[in-house]
Amino acid sequence: MKSQDIARTWVDFFSKRGHTPVPSASLVSADPSLLFTVAGMVPFIPYFTAQQEPPYSRAVSIQKCIRTADIEEVGQTSRHGTFFQMAGNFSFGDYFKAEVIPWAWELLTTPQAAGGFGLDPERLWVTVYEEGDERDDDARRIWEDVVGVPRERVIGTGKADNYWNTGQPGPGGPCSEIYYDRGPAYGQEGGPAVDETRYIEIWNLVFMQYRLSAVRSKTDFDVAGELPQKNIDTGLGLERLAMILQGVENMYETDQVRPVLDKASALSGKEYTSTEDPSDPNHANDVRLRMIADHVRSSLMLISDGVVPGNEGRGYVLRRLIRRSVRAMRLMGVETAVLPELLPASRDAMKGVYPEVETDFERISRVAYAEERAFLRTIASGTARLEEAIGEAKQGAGALSGDVAFSLHDTYGFPIDLTLEIAAEAGLSVDEQQFRSLMKEQRERAQQDARAKKAGHTDLTLFSKLHGGRDVRFTGYETLSGESPV
Ligand code: ATP
Ligand code: MG
Ligand code: MG
Ligand code: MG
Repeated sequence: MKSQDIARTWVDFFSKRGHTPVPSASLVSADPSLLFTVAGMVPFIPYFTAQQEPPYSRAVSIQKCIRTADIEEVGQTSRHGTFFQMAGNFSFGDYFKAEVIPWAWELLTTPQAAGGFGLDPERLWVTVYEEGDERDDDARRIWEDVVGVPRERVIGTGKADNYWNTGQPGPGGPCSEIYYDRGPAYGQEGGPAVDETRYIEIWNLVFMQYRLSAVRSKTDFDVAGELPQKNIDTGLGLERLAMILQGVENMYETDQVRPVLDKASALSGKEYTSTEDPSDPNHANDVRLRMIADHVRSSLMLISDGVVPGNEGRGYVLRRLIRRSVRAMRLMGVETAVLPELLPASRDAMKGVYPEVETDFERISRVAYAEERAFLRTIASGTARLEEAIGEAKQGAGALSGDVAFSLHDTYGFPIDLTLEIAAEAGLSVDEQQFRSLMKEQRERAQQDARAKKAGHTDLTLFSKLHGGRDVRFTGYETLSGESPV
């Protein structure tokens, strides 16, 4: 099943069950406390928090998402992209667990010819919330007695894994997640608690059931009572289902991503071997090819939604994605501009679902190619400065100081891994420890500046109406944090 057919099957299934199809919102979240749309529910936050009256009581969507917090996983695990699509169905005070759980099962296991995804029911495992004497007995009962999942494949897990809240007083509730067993070739037996690579998470069902009065941390909060109107929020990773249905090893090999990977492989002359084994000599290049395929697609989709490269916020994320792609190609021996080859490959893979990436490609490509050219110039001028420093170090200390590495980074935006690589080629080491401590000092200065700035403007007021006008921030999903430089 192609990604586009997965999306269509999803929307059809829930449309037939009274859901209004809602087009994907922009990757640039309307919610000012979030850099990007990180989940299918984000555009519906005002309905879930009862700030706005929903125009429908049931909705279905395929939402474009960006999760920068997953960037280090990309290419390393089989299942994390910076860009992905979350298929979701939502109930605003309408149906609840008794409907959504059997529907989820029906959609996953009904044969494809009959409008489902045709997964083997024997391979599905589910989790329910069970911690101490708090237990979501309703969910367990529905999975076991109504759906008929054998008890040993219904796993109880605690708050850390299976409880949703926003990080603020407001709605919260238990989750139930569905996992697919990829088989013994992918890891140890025993269910998702034992091995999340073999048992891959595909779908999260969130039951917004309670009103939380105080939230001290994700796992420490007070439940004030039941919500007057209970909601359902679910999210299934479209690429994860695609990798299962397309019989490929990971999400980067699915139909909307693979063409970029192949193009990068052809350009670099590095054969892609699909290995996820770090001890395999092909692993490093395979990770690079997967990462490039992901990052180029994310860049395409971000620019399409109006993001331009810059030094902070969303623009910085885009800049990093482009630079990491260029850098990874360089590590495979390609030193010329690569986006003019890679970006069209991504456009062609995505345009069936997102026609705007084709109609607006002139603008999108102009932004992307200019950023790549600027980075190549940075590399060229930084390299000249670095070679000078290498000459001096060879005469003297025999190693490059952290100062040099830092100033290259600071002045030219020259990535540290590039400094390390070029220094190593010249037989020199770099004082990385000093470099890191200089970076840390700089980060702390920047944070102080940001705090000083922030004091002057009002942050998000998402739940403020509900909570006496206090200024609170939505932190229920990941935000950009603690990322290393390019
Ligand atoms: P994981 O534990 O694998 O990181 P998650 O629990 O963070 O996933 P949820 O927040 O529950 O993910 O999101 C709902 C669904 O979206 C997941 O079940 C998964 O199928 C999909 N998903 C989440 N993050 C990613 C990602 N970075 N790339 C692709 N799909 C994702
Ligand atoms: Mg995650
Ligand atoms: Mg998870
Ligand atoms: Mg999850």
